[in-house]
Amino acid sequence: MNGPEIHVEFAPELGMFVPQARRAGATEVVTDGVSTLGHVVESLGVPLTEVGGLVVDGRAVAVSYVPKAGESVEVQAVARPQRVPGAPLRFLLDVHLGTLARRLRLLGVDAAYESTDIGDPALATRSAAERRVMLSRDRGLLRRRELWAGAFVYSTRTEDQLRDVLGRFEPELKPWTRCTACNGLLKEAVKEDVADRLEGGTQRSYDVFAQCEECGRVYWRGAHHDRLEAIVTRAVSEFGS
Ligand SMILES: [Zn+2]
Repeated sequence: MNGPEIHVEFAPELGMFVPQARRAGATEVVTDGVSTLGHVVESLGVPLTEVGGLVVDGRAVAVSYVPKAGESVEVQAVARPQRVPGAPLRFLLDVHLGTLARRLRLLGVDAAYESTDIGDPALATRSAAERRVMLSRDRGLLRRRELWAGAFVYSTRTEDQLRDVLGRFEPELKPWTRCTACNGLLKEAVKEDVADRLEGGTQRSYDVFAQCEECGRVYWRGAHHDRLEAIVTRAVSEFGS
């Protein structure tokens, strides 16, 4: 490109997306004179889902703004908590985030998930159709224009991913109300109602407490319960209202 030179400075939170040389302070970018600022920022590696605001020479501009020679651009990170107006807060997770999806469901957060790789276009279409915030570590997916809303998941560790999403969006937590297998809502159940779905040993040993309205899966306090209880307690103490 051989056009106007601008100066671009990224918020520290966005440093991981840009080359090392652009992480500290403003650096020069040569644009083509017609591309929007949104395009320029994306082409430098930053998904627009992670940009909270663009400020040019001290004034906020839209992503459609076309920068002019000599201007200084400040690229801000999204505010936390981030509000997503227009629909109840719900999520769609890509194929790599299955464990995170189950943790969110455990906490009662509406988290749809495709266990098979249906491809970026289909995911983006579902996000738009169901007004779900797309969660992904795939920058290409987050660049898709059809998305209702999206968020990059910053960590590869499930625990950190959960804290990232809970801290960023502050969804209402309603532990033990959603099926971790299918995201359906749970209804109260007693052992007698679901006896035909339980193995003999389970029937004798455990207290049934819920059943999924969608897939019929039965939930009881048994193996793994302490581990799940600990996850719930930790999340609620930090992020519950
Ligand atoms: Zn279910």
